[in-house]
Amino acid sequence: MKAMHLTSPRVIESSPLQLTEAIIPTPDEDEILLRVSSCGICHTDLHVIEGELPPRKLPIIPGHQVTGMVEKIGSRVKNFSIGDRVGIAWLHWACGDCEYCKHGRENLCSHAKFTGYDVDGGYTEYMAVPAGFAYSISKRFTDEEAAPLLCAGIIGYRALRLSEVKPGQRLGLFGFGASAHIAIQVVKYWGCEVFVFSRSVHHRKLAEQLGAVWTGTADEVPPLLLHSAIMFAPAGELVPKALRVLDKGGTLALAGIHMTPIPSFDYSLIYHERTIRSVANSTRQDGIDFLKLAAEIPIRTEVEIFPLTEANRALQLLKSGQIRGAGVLSVKYYDTSS
Ligand SMILES: [Zn+2]
Ligand SMILES: [Zn+2]
Repeated sequence: MKAMHLTSPRVIESSPLQLTEAIIPTPDEDEILLRVSSCGICHTDLHVIEGELPPRKLPIIPGHQVTGMVEKIGSRVKNFSIGDRVGIAWLHWACGDCEYCKHGRENLCSHAKFTGYDVDGGYTEYMAVPAGFAYSISKRFTDEEAAPLLCAGIIGYRALRLSEVKPGQRLGLFGFGASAHIAIQVVKYWGCEVFVFSRSVHHRKLAEQLGAVWTGTADEVPPLLLHSAIMFAPAGELVPKALRVLDKGGTLALAGIHMTPIPSFDYSLIYHERTIRSVANSTRQDGIDFLKLAAEIPIRTEVEIFPLTEANRALQLLKSGQIRGAGVLSVKYYDTSS
């Protein structure tokens, strides 16, 4: 099979991913073999590729928003059959046994393994994954439309839950990429007013089209204070700016896995019981709940599609904020029968 491999972390401008030939994995008894159709690109992939996250496995095939078809199943797999369409997300596996797993917080599992980081991900033609960590995908979505739901969507949904925004309230979104363009559709469905902060004119325009009541840069101040806010941009310097527009008792949720340092700020910005919290990974229940909601709304993902072999270029565009909505790699099928 063809795959885009990373052998050593480097800046994306140097095109570190290489197209290589790899052996199709054999699923073990609890796994399914997936023929990959598409894989979304994510800022976390950039953090892995550029080494901002310490490497856990090298070489590695990145990618953790995967859709495809089940091609083989292990002897103990009961929840999927050959030919089923499935989605794979960031959480590859959790132990089920630790204090976190036992209390519904498998996203914090100390032994968790992550797709495209601890194990090979979806920038490839085939993947073997634990059947218990794969999701069914609604017929409402094409493979390309569904891919961004699997991280951008699920993490955005968990961030919304952790931001404690209630129906009808005012929510701020800082950064308007793949995750935010999905999250805004969820909160609009909940009847919230959404305020979007982005330095990109194109991203602000998309936000307005998707129903933001106000858009501006992080240096601007909207006319009303916000009940909750979510930081999608991995830029620590925006945290005090977000606190400045948060009402008393409000919550700021930080959705990224990596962020530049947060500058010190005056206590008054967080006084009056404002809360800052990070969002780490997601549970399978988040995934199930979100995918159900996404089909019910239904969420419309704006996708920009690239061939698998153009993963470097797609990620360069992601880094420079030039992707509208979500970037998705489409996997062209090669003849692997020989
Ligand atoms: Zn665990
Ligand atoms: Zn991701």
